[in-house]
Amino acid sequence: MPRVSRRWLWFWRIVYRGLAAWRHLRIQRWTTRLLGPQYVRSRKLIEIDITYLCNLHCLNCNRSVGQARESLHMAVAMVEDFVANSLTRGVVWRRIRVLGGEPTLHPEFDRVIEVLRGYTKVHPGCILEVVTNGYGEHVEAALDRLPEDVWVDNSRKTGRVQPTFGPFNLAPCDDPRYRNADYANACAVARDCGMGLTPLGYYPCAVAGGIDRILGGKFGRQALPGDQDDLLAEASTLCRLCGRFRDGHFVPRVLRPALTTELVSPTWRRLYADWHGRHSTP
Ligand code: SF4
Ligand code: SF4
Repeated sequence: MPRVSRRWLWFWRIVYRGLAAWRHLRIQRWTTRLLGPQYVRSRKLIEIDITYLCNLHCLNCNRSVGQARESLHMAVAMVEDFVANSLTRGVVWRRIRVLGGEPTLHPEFDRVIEVLRGYTKVHPGCILEVVTNGYGEHVEAALDRLPEDVWVDNSRKTGRVQPTFGPFNLAPCDDPRYRNADYANACAVARDCGMGLTPLGYYPCAVAGGIDRILGGKFGRQALPGDQDDLLAEASTLCRLCGRFRDGHFVPRVLRPALTTELVSPTWRRLYADWHGRHSTP
């Protein structure tokens, strides 16, 4: 992403308006038929959501951690399978990121990291990175225990309001401007952050896995997808609900309005109500 200086803000505004116009054109069904999907899932980068538990419940969290709270953790056996399958099939990951929820709250966090280091010991060029909110003593203690070869991306959050977040719960399928969109186009997250693995399976990206959790976990692949597989059917189904689909690419913070409330479109209101209906204790 380019460095955007305030002095040249007017210029970058024009550039990103042009990119937005191109994105809108690019995701139309006829353009997609002609050019194929704009973004497909990565073969080199993966994000693993090991838990949906978090000690912050940020507004507009794109894993619905605040909107639909549950202590759903990835079994260590699933992490072991991921490592074993990657090694057996000769998959060379460039980066494995461990996220959630707040990953350090996984009850077997240290063990999960050890299992993943089993992969990076064989492939030392692969970056193993923990993405954390850095909030609270428990989290800090878990980060302090990490071996030196594990990278840490610490956002140092201090509260629930994250003005730099985007409106994740504004589903494009609720917006008439997207009536001709082909959602198989996905967005830059699938390419630049990587494909996703969650307690429910493999997805074009981890955000898509978080969406499927709210839908009831119907779309996760149970085995590591083959190289030929773009997971387009999953993108078609899940990206229609994702606010990230709108921009499609990363937009520098200074060009985005600050977001201090939670915006929720009608389809998401219904999906969260259904989820709460399924998870309420009788
Ligand atoms: S810290 Fe991250 S995972 Fe937790 S609620 Fe905030 S955005 Fe979601
Ligand atoms: S639109 Fe959302 S669900 Fe689809 S690839 Fe992008 S971030 Fe993932």
